[in-house]
Amino acid sequence: MSEHILVTRSSMPDFEEYCEEIRKLWDSHWLTNMGVEHETLQKLLEDYLGCSHVVLYTNGHLALENVIAAMRFPKGGEVITTPFTFASTTHAIVRNGLTPIFCDVNPEDYTIDADKIESLITDKTVAIVPVHVYGSMCDVERIGEIGKKYGLKVIYDAAHAFAVKYKGVSSANFGDASMFSFHATKVFNTIEGGAVCFPNDALVETLNDMKNFGIRGPESCVFVGGNAKMNEFQAAMGICNLRHLDREIKKRAAVTERYFARLDGVPGLRLRKPQKDVESNHAYFPVVFDGFGATRNEVFDALEEHGITARKYFYPLTSSFECYADLPTAGTEKTPVAAFLADRVLTLPMYADLSLENVDRICDIVLACGRR
Ligand SMILES: *Cc1c(COP(=O)(O)O)cnc(C)c1O
Repeated sequence: MSEHILVTRSSMPDFEEYCEEIRKLWDSHWLTNMGVEHETLQKLLEDYLGCSHVVLYTNGHLALENVIAAMRFPKGGEVITTPFTFASTTHAIVRNGLTPIFCDVNPEDYTIDADKIESLITDKTVAIVPVHVYGSMCDVERIGEIGKKYGLKVIYDAAHAFAVKYKGVSSANFGDASMFSFHATKVFNTIEGGAVCFPNDALVETLNDMKNFGIRGPESCVFVGGNAKMNEFQAAMGICNLRHLDREIKKRAAVTERYFARLDGVPGLRLRKPQKDVESNHAYFPVVFDGFGATRNEVFDALEEHGITARKYFYPLTSSFECYADLPTAGTEKTPVAAFLADRVLTLPMYADLSLENVDRICDIVLACGRR
């Protein structure tokens, strides 16, 4: 019986490397609240991403919730976003008292369809929250122009897009802000963790206040903030993982290449093509089953029977979650491309240490489904 293959497997440094990194915490007894590891990781990331400001968070979701809150939009404002995403994106908007207006995605790279944004803008629109789905870059140039023309903030959910570059510029440098997730399942992890990256100096203090109860000094609380600080063990994991990241991404690229060699051109299988001018991080390997000999669900089940767990990602659309049944914009009719994809897409296992033999095994099972 061969090993069970999960859809992802967290990148980790050698045990000894991590121990060495956290040894200093046993000297200082400083475990959280912006200690030396936190400060070090923040600077390393500003360098790595080439962006002016990075504020670290305990997870990506609170990073997104806080940066939306930091913009102080009027309650009831409308935010244009997509439903083809993880729960977090839509929740972060709604938990800020704002209404998500669902825009469809485009059928090439599954990011927001920039041609459909303007028709959704009303006098209540305050922002656009696009998602760099699977690490595909949104049309950042068009979206930037629309934002400027209508005076809307653009906040990217870049949870999937760490280390992705567009025309040589890191994904951290577009729009008013970008949120990254450093969750264990992401390309770069700090166990749990996240960050907001942005160019505006004035946001630094606001976000730092927000993630630490609004406390600015020993006797000063200026803001009704929560607690979303990244602790020292998370930051230490990030420092170690960052050292190996470029090599990990190269290994992922080899996995992508093997999947393409085996699956590209097979009738009924649609692969996501590399984007022009984009350097990918190979975060996910989505396959759309359309006119294949088996449905997405049948392929999912067949893989599971062989001890291989793929993921119906993203299914269901956030706009059809039970918790949004009362939302005026609930439902999937207005986003037919997203609805089509959600019913047909499967992300196959993808991680740096996935062996090419296992990629072949996965592809053999998928292809056999089509012949049944
Ligand atoms: C992972 C993810 C998040 C949330 O990040 P966490 O670090 O898990 O809180 C938000 N949006 C998308 C698209 C994600 O994949």
